[in-house]
Amino acid sequence: MTTILSGLIVRDELKKSLIVKIKALQEKRGAPLTLAIIQVGDRADSTAYINSKNKFAAEISVDVKIINFQENINQEEIISEIKKFNKDKKITGIIVQLPLPKNLDERIILDAIDPAKDADAITSTNVKKWMIQGEPLYPATARGVGELLDFYKISLKGKRVCVVGRSKLVGMPIAAMCCAKGATVTVCHSKTEDLMKETLAANVIISVVGKAGIITAGHVRSGQVVIDVGLSRIVVGTKPKLVGDVDFEKVKVVLGENGAITPVPGGVGPMTVLALFENLVDCAKIEASRIFLKAEAV
Ligand code: NAP
Repeated sequence: MTTILSGLIVRDELKKSLIVKIKALQEKRGAPLTLAIIQVGDRADSTAYINSKNKFAAEISVDVKIINFQENINQEEIISEIKKFNKDKKITGIIVQLPLPKNLDERIILDAIDPAKDADAITSTNVKKWMIQGEPLYPATARGVGELLDFYKISLKGKRVCVVGRSKLVGMPIAAMCCAKGATVTVCHSKTEDLMKETLAANVIISVVGKAGIITAGHVRSGQVVIDVGLSRIVVGTKPKLVGDVDFEKVKVVLGENGAITPVPGGVGPMTVLALFENLVDCAKIEASRIFLKAEAV
């Protein structure tokens, strides 16, 4: 039988040690770790992601402060709120829920975040760290995918990985993470001429597109590992259904007993939420070391 890579099982296992780390940091700082989330507009998918982060935070005793701006908000007002969070000692980490409305300059807004509080590792300073310096600090989905592979002892060293999708927050960080793990990485996108040729040549396929069923049984071969990051909401009959990029049932048959695949839901999604809070713990560690350095200097 094809191995099902369950993000739910891995998340629940890794959550135990995360809770221990959070408790220790909370005792040190004398206050709960707090994640600030900025949402602009009311996209249903963004609200659903924020709700799942909020729910998980409650389970691990982390506070969440959500600021919701109207879609027509002035960019300066968002930046001013971020700057307040940067200075606020109660706030451990900050994320801006993407995508932002088109009239806003995403880069300028993200770069207003103090890199030490950048829980999504997406400020220019942190992008340079994971992209150029190869430091193990990644946006949540890339970190989550890496930890899922580690948990199932799937080594990428010397393997060919095909990442389908090249977005700044998801596809490219996943490609950088795979490269750092020793894989030979091919990044495909909407201009790729022969996607099937690229996916068939890989040992591991990671699909990050957001188009239901784009990875068909014809894109895979026996023994591959398929990681489905994409999420789409489709309607089956009259009911809404959350699906990935991969035609799961048909692809699973081709992968066979030596292959492995993530389900949707229950695959990468829970790992992304877990990894965001692991990043938050890293922010709290930076905060603790800054306080220590200040005390040393006195
Ligand atoms: P995005 O910014 O829209 O990027 C989509 C990428 O797919 C682009 O690079 C695009 O290529 C590429 N693409 C589009 N059509 C293609 C095709 N026919 N063949 C090959 N590549 C194609 O989206 P994103 O933010 O990266 O998110 C991608 C998906 O991941 C979404 O469904 C999102 O909801 C999901 N997601 C899931 C999680 C999770 O935890 N499971 C976390 C984050 C995101 P171009 O660059 O050429 O346009």
